[in-house]
Amino acid sequence: MKNYIELKNIIENHNSFILTTHVNPDADALGSELALYYTLNKIGKEVSIINHSATPYNLEFMDKEKVIMKFDETKKILFEKAEVLIFLDLNQTNRVVSMENVVKNFNGFKICIDHHQDPEDFADLFYGGSEYSATGEIIYEFINETNIIKLDYEIAYQLYAAIMTDTGSFRFERTSPKIHMIVAELLKLGVNPVEIYDKIYNQFHFSRVKLLGDALSTINIDSTGKIAFMFLTKEQQGKNNSVEADVDGFVNYCLTIKDVEIGILIYELKDGIKISFRSKGNIPVNKLAVEFGGGGHTNASGTRLYNVTIDDIKDKVVESAKKYISNGGENDF
Ligand code: 5GP
Ligand code: MN
Repeated sequence: MKNYIELKNIIENHNSFILTTHVNPDADALGSELALYYTLNKIGKEVSIINHSATPYNLEFMDKEKVIMKFDETKKILFEKAEVLIFLDLNQTNRVVSMENVVKNFNGFKICIDHHQDPEDFADLFYGGSEYSATGEIIYEFINETNIIKLDYEIAYQLYAAIMTDTGSFRFERTSPKIHMIVAELLKLGVNPVEIYDKIYNQFHFSRVKLLGDALSTINIDSTGKIAFMFLTKEQQGKNNSVEADVDGFVNYCLTIKDVEIGILIYELKDGIKISFRSKGNIPVNKLAVEFGGGGHTNASGTRLYNVTIDDIKDKVVESAKKYISNGGENDF
């Protein structure tokens, strides 16, 4: 693991920062941004958070002071002025979609703090690694090891939201003793786990539950019985008046079926599709996602493809997924 002192020095020796994260940000992306935003603010730095996507409606509560900006042409000037650009919870520049050119042409120092596999080499400094459960865990470690600020309730709140969601509420693979120790520290600072869980997972629109019904009704299993897939067309989304954030978590239902090892959700976008992959055990769906231009983690990955329809890709995706399912130990990942 890289020494955080260098990161601390860079932060202390510069004045203006931009923080950004991936398209359709989740609570780890936003919580990491906001935790670092408050950290930098506390030591008197000028900080902007600029994202490609608007904050999903169920996570708006995290940004209490409404400091997160959505990128448009008028924000380019901020990129020209800033000295340091920090990427959080992403490791490929195409994950910032409309901001890709602006971040590629950024003249200052680029830092990436992330926990996905196979990072693209685009930053001057990289912190983290796939051994971390969440980007929020890396931010915690940075603050804790460098004492750059004293951790407080406001920051702990963001880090708890980040870690809780990316560990699947403390049940995914990398839910380690270390992560529980970190969370214990966050709770000691007054974070209320009931409140945060409730805000993220129990405040969805009614239409989301109806949409889930539609998605579940499309579930199918392939001939091996080990791959389950579901779809959400634009028509279904329109009927339910849904937004992309509503679909978060649907794909996990594929894995609740006995013997299913890989779950796939194909979601129709305005101008293409988004595919979510999930797997059980050590089946590396990040590799499957890479075959389709995406990436992610061993058990959760995805991609976005433009100018492609569900029908164009459906069979190809299931066929490719078959390479990864267990077949009596023949696969060797
Ligand atoms: P989700 O299916 O929840 O949208 O994404 C699951 C994980 O897959 C994300 O945490 C992210 O690591 C990865 N992922 C999703 N979409 C993309 C994509 O378009 N490109 C890359 N590189 N990774 C993605
Ligand atoms: Mn994350």
